[in-house]
Amino acid sequence: MANRQRSGAAAAGAGVTPRRAAGGRPAIPDEVIRVLSVLPSASMVVDPDGLVLRSSARATALGLVNRTAVTIPDIVHLIERVAVDGHAREQEMRVRRPPLGRELLELRVRVAALGTGAILVLIDDLAEERRVDVVRRDFVANVSHELKTPVGALSLLAEAVLAASDDPVQVRHFAERMTTEASRLSHLIQDVIDLSRLQGDDPLTHAEVVDVDDLVLRALEEVRNLAVRHEIELVTGDPSDAVVYGDLGQLLTAVRNLLSNAIAYSPNHTRVAIGVRSTDAIVEISVKDQGIGIPVNDLDRIFERFYRVDQARSRVTGGTGLGLAIVKHVCQNHGGECTVWSEPGVGSTFTLRLPSYQSSTPFDRDSHELSVEVLAIPTGEVPS
Ligand code: ADP
Repeated sequence: MANRQRSGAAAAGAGVTPRRAAGGRPAIPDEVIRVLSVLPSASMVVDPDGLVLRSSARATALGLVNRTAVTIPDIVHLIERVAVDGHAREQEMRVRRPPLGRELLELRVRVAALGTGAILVLIDDLAEERRVDVVRRDFVANVSHELKTPVGALSLLAEAVLAASDDPVQVRHFAERMTTEASRLSHLIQDVIDLSRLQGDDPLTHAEVVDVDDLVLRALEEVRNLAVRHEIELVTGDPSDAVVYGDLGQLLTAVRNLLSNAIAYSPNHTRVAIGVRSTDAIVEISVKDQGIGIPVNDLDRIFERFYRVDQARSRVTGGTGLGLAIVKHVCQNHGGECTVWSEPGVGSTFTLRLPSYQSSTPFDRDSHELSVEVLAIPTGEVPS
């Protein structure tokens, strides 16, 4: 609301003469909507008071828009200046990513009046482009190293099968081990594919409004058989009605990874509990186990790619060492974080903290005049 008053004052002397659509808000030409839907930049269209009329999925995902407000004060100021004299402006800025403020965004922001009273804001994330390059280079080196183990094991086992070809018992034994190694290899390849997608140029192309209770139920369904095999009881809390904005597939992978770890690193006949807590700005999904726990010295490193506390145990569980790195990237892509509490012999609690998404705004409860419309950006497709 502070934004609104401040920018409202600036707009009072505005050089932009608003031409308003029915209902009093500035019209957004159809051509502009079409162009925005194919641009790679995050984008918003705001009115001269700084209220967001439309925003792209990427702008929402980066936390730059909350309900109908622009969240970054520097962008609000830029909009105010353009609203005053109608001159287009461009500025580079380093800002903390809302709402958690953990990550630094390096943004190039361009603001221009559309001539209808509406103002266009285009935003490129410069740090992301550089980060993706560095991460890709490191990743290729790590993956090549990790692939050597199962591939080496398969080749030794194949030699062993050949050498024991006259002994059916031995052949069976080696063949079974080959199946285990092949399945390990296929998990590793799947995780590598998942992680490289998450680290891609535009990690949230499939963003939508996600019902968190539904997400939790689906993740539980996917690990149910694993829990039965380990005789672990799965426990859930009350429904939360929490909603986040993001990629359902990615979020499901993250919650499932936390649940499968909780099961894999717990003794039989224990409990794994999942609960959702929601405040105004943050949704927390916690997975709590009564398992082996993690030594304090390892806590900082477990989110690194291929880091395992206990190599031998990880081999038994069939872990790839990528599960938590995937969780971390899913959180980063959604402007959130994953925190962990753990004590050896007592258990661990992993908590996904994600920005909450309020679909109903104070405005659109009364009228539909100022509801935020999110432009889902289709890949290579212009909506008709
Ligand atoms: P992995 O595929 O080896 O499980 P992850 O990236 O999922 O790889 O986890 C990294 C390491 O963190 C694991 O090898 C394990 O040592 C530790 N870890 C993860 N989750 C738990 C948990 N719930 N309880 C105890 N240790 C865990």
